[in-house]
Amino acid sequence: MKKNKFKRSLTEWKAYFYKELRHIGLLLYVGAIGTTMNEIDVLKKIASNLTERKNSAALSNYRVLCSNIAFLNRAFVTAVGTLRSLHAQIEFSLENDLHLNPQYKSGTDLNAFVPIVSRLQLNSFSVFEKLAALTGPDERAHITLESVSALSRGFDDYNDLVTATRQYIDSIVSDSYQLCLLDPKSFNYHVLVSLNSFSKYATKSLAHALFNAEVESALNEFGTIKFKDWAKSHITECNHSTFAQKVDFLFSVLGAPTDPDLPDDLKNLFKFSSEFTHIGYISTFFTSTTGAEVIFGDEDGPYLPSTENFSELKYEILETACKALLATYIPSLVKCLEKLLLKSQADRFSALLHQNAAALSDAIATRNSKYFFFIKTGLIGSSSSIPLTCMCGETRTWLPPHATTDLYCTSCGSSFQLLEVDGDGGYIIRSNGPAKIIGANVPDFHDLPMDEQIKLLKQCEEAAKSAHGPQPGGQPDAAP
Ligand SMILES: [Zn+2]
Repeated sequence: MKKNKFKRSLTEWKAYFYKELRHIGLLLYVGAIGTTMNEIDVLKKIASNLTERKNSAALSNYRVLCSNIAFLNRAFVTAVGTLRSLHAQIEFSLENDLHLNPQYKSGTDLNAFVPIVSRLQLNSFSVFEKLAALTGPDERAHITLESVSALSRGFDDYNDLVTATRQYIDSIVSDSYQLCLLDPKSFNYHVLVSLNSFSKYATKSLAHALFNAEVESALNEFGTIKFKDWAKSHITECNHSTFAQKVDFLFSVLGAPTDPDLPDDLKNLFKFSSEFTHIGYISTFFTSTTGAEVIFGDEDGPYLPSTENFSELKYEILETACKALLATYIPSLVKCLEKLLLKSQADRFSALLHQNAAALSDAIATRNSKYFFFIKTGLIGSSSSIPLTCMCGETRTWLPPHATTDLYCTSCGSSFQLLEVDGDGGYIIRSNGPAKIIGANVPDFHDLPMDEQIKLLKQCEEAAKSAHGPQPGGQPDAAP
């Protein structure tokens, strides 16, 4: 980092590069149209694009991004922590024969699944916690122009984050799959294939610590099966061998996720992260470029384009990780416990697990939403400051000249859309109750005397009865 070079006219540099770098991707693309290229031209384009592009992704507001990452990471950590504490209760219940369904009680063949399910969960949590530890927000409190290089993100950072991601989605899908199936042959396949690979290179002491005579005998039995028969033998079975097949199977059993893009997001993230675990060209190219970075800055201090780009990826991964936990792991665990435990016990855990899922789901929903505000005509463009209180509780004061680029929440990244309302009305009636029109000369709804509030609510009820179809601002994402 040649910081002195940039230190002299930081503001100018920031403005210039920030504007220019955003367009580099586009310029390269335009430059390629209509030309006949040979292999060296193509190679050069790849080289320049891979080295320049990383700086062009600084699209969103970095502070908003950090705030979103901090919020979602907290929600993720809480959800995983809750799963861990529930595990202790679940294990306690699984150890009690009186709580088990007849076919899983002690002495039955399928009782073998009881310790397996317990262990499987603990393994998952370790992987979940690793990703949680790598998806925290950037620490910017003591960053100065001199120390800003500490925020630079390169190959090591990407490698840590993305390999942890690969482990996460691989194990969350694979564990969910096993929990859902609870099938002896499928589970044997999963464990024996990995034990078999593991045993090939494990040192003597490691093998001795892990492989007892029982495991040895199981591996020996597996050794008698030809590779082509692994997926269907007298002790093993695998009907969904690829990651994508497991994802499709899970959603066919658990139902389509709330986010219809999630199955593809999971598959794409799996492919993307494979690039890092297998060290393809892309990962090393675009993350190992060294050299000076332009310094950006905001109210919290200086930062670098690579910090921001890395954060964007971190946020995307975090969001997909949360959704995977909600749509695959938790429902699979519920399904598994319904098989193992008596209904009364299973219902109890199901309620607790759903409660945990709902909290995480709410956290995701309050990020990057779109909220509508009703505002008195004439206020926009006037000399007044306009307070806009977001659903997350943060108030943004919209200062004149009321630039529309400022219409977002600095805390949760939600965008605001303003709907101008004519006339002398004080409140707007929405499906979820009355709200004050911004700029109207009336108190906030909740500051009204109780009888006035009731009167307005009655009007709401009548309006709802007579209205067919959605009203403007009546959707769930309407702001207060
Ligand atoms: Zn907000």
